[in-house]
Amino acid sequence: MPGKTPFSSGAKVELSRSAAASRRGIRRGKRETLGEKSARANAIATRLALTYPDVECPLTHRNHFELLVAVILSAQCTDAAVNKVTPELFRRYPDAASLSGASTRDIEALIRTLGLFRAKAKSLQRCAQQLVEEFEGQVPATMTELTKLAGVGRKTANVILGHAFATPGIAVDTHCKRLSNRLGLTGEQDPTKIERDLGCLLPPQEWTGFSHRLIIHGRRVCHARKPNCGGCMLRQWCPSRDLA
Ligand code: SF4
Repeated sequence: MPGKTPFSSGAKVELSRSAAASRRGIRRGKRETLGEKSARANAIATRLALTYPDVECPLTHRNHFELLVAVILSAQCTDAAVNKVTPELFRRYPDAASLSGASTRDIEALIRTLGLFRAKAKSLQRCAQQLVEEFEGQVPATMTELTKLAGVGRKTANVILGHAFATPGIAVDTHCKRLSNRLGLTGEQDPTKIERDLGCLLPPQEWTGFSHRLIIHGRRVCHARKPNCGGCMLRQWCPSRDLA
């Protein structure tokens, strides 16, 4: 399956006038206009794309079915832990038809090193059944259809849409939520509202790359407890710099 996915706008690196005005505004504590905030968000997106040019899905997969299974398994555990269990899982159950016929007990045995393994085994089996019964064994390509599947919420659906179907989607996980708040791009805590706010600030072609790069930046620099503001390339656009 896809290796490197650019998800990059190729937009100019320089601050636009309104991004510069916005930067001055956040320094003085002035309220930003929507246009200024959007310009700042786009400047942040551009800088993120320069720093992290390739957005590669860290979950090992060879097709849409395997990607769906891996993303469902990745909830509340590391990608590395998922990549350890999926080779055997995919060897035994290479498609929706075979997984739908598995017992949850057998699936549990293969994924028991992962958090929430019982719930995930149940979701996988049910999801596979739905794929067989409603989608001819194929992974659907729309948000509405994907979120009908067991174990699939908007975050999972957006990852699938972005990586499998090149359809723009903002995947809001804990890093995306924390960083978009620290960067002053939203004041919301609810992922669906954060997705809406970011979607209003950025053009659709930026959505997938932006959210994935925020996740990378959250893991590498803007940590939850001790953000490295001194070494952060976003500090000029960040109202939380040295405060978080
Ligand atoms: S300046 Fe600090 S708080 Fe802002 S994004 Fe960078 S690391 Fe996070």
